Amino acid sequence: MNDPILMAVFAHPDDEAFGTGGTLARYAAEGCQVHLVTATRGEAGEISEPGLATNANLPYVREQELRCACDAYGIHPPRFLDYVDGQLTIVHQGQAVGKLVRLIRGFRPQVLLTFGPEGIYGHYDHIAVHRWATIAVGLAADASCFPDQLSGSCEPHQVSKLYYRSLSQKHVASMAEEGMAAVMMDGVPFPFVGRPEGEITTVIDVGDYARRKLQGMFCHATQVGEDWRSPEAVEETLTSDWFLSEHYVLARSEVGWLEGIERDLFRGLR
Ligand SMILES: [Zn+2]
Repeated sequence: MNDPILMAVFAHPDDEAFGTGGTLARYAAEGCQVHLVTATRGEAGEISEPGLATNANLPYVREQELRCACDAYGIHPPRFLDYVDGQLTIVHQGQAVGKLVRLIRGFRPQVLLTFGPEGIYGHYDHIAVHRWATIAVGLAADASCFPDQLSGSCEPHQVSKLYYRSLSQKHVASMAEEGMAAVMMDGVPFPFVGRPEGEITTVIDVGDYARRKLQGMFCHATQVGEDWRSPEAVEETLTSDWFLSEHYVLARSEVGWLEGIERDLFRGLR
């Protein structure tokens, strides 16, 4: 295999933090090139504490927060698709998929991570990104798709493994015990959606990278508020089962499938 390259595609700054921050940090530390693509700058979300940002500068502040998080994980600076938070379902789908195809052909990852169809808690933007990324992985390898992109530095590329970032039902139960059963959007609780244990194909142990993951989370100060930062809260987070391993469903594979649980996203490629 050429040098390992991992690409993650999410909707908002902080989407990468809770469920994949440890994975990004771990693979970067192991010498992998890690690229994060985020569709929006998260400007529709609430601001955790007044004074950290205004509605006017929130896109700028959240971009800086994501840059800070990428530094914490030790990965490349983020790339943005430059869409508006909350409006991904009305974006021109062909344009969005085309942007991702171009990035996939440019970065040439063997492994790509994105949301599953449940979007972690059913956020419409997450589900849109899931669809774009899944379709883009299929089209990036096909020279007849977006042929205008193809030039010396932009050739068709086959992603070898496509993963969906997922929560297990066990993790969802353990998060609910700690008061995190749902995400409030427009005053409505959207519950986290867990997958049955049998559907989880891949578990990445991120215990050694838990502090980096937490550091990345804390970069998202306008989203991850003060209640996460007390010494007691940090201690609780760093010892929580849901924080120390990250779960995925292998959705497409060019290198076969493992019976039982995979412990490495690059299994079959090294
Ligand atoms: Zn999100």
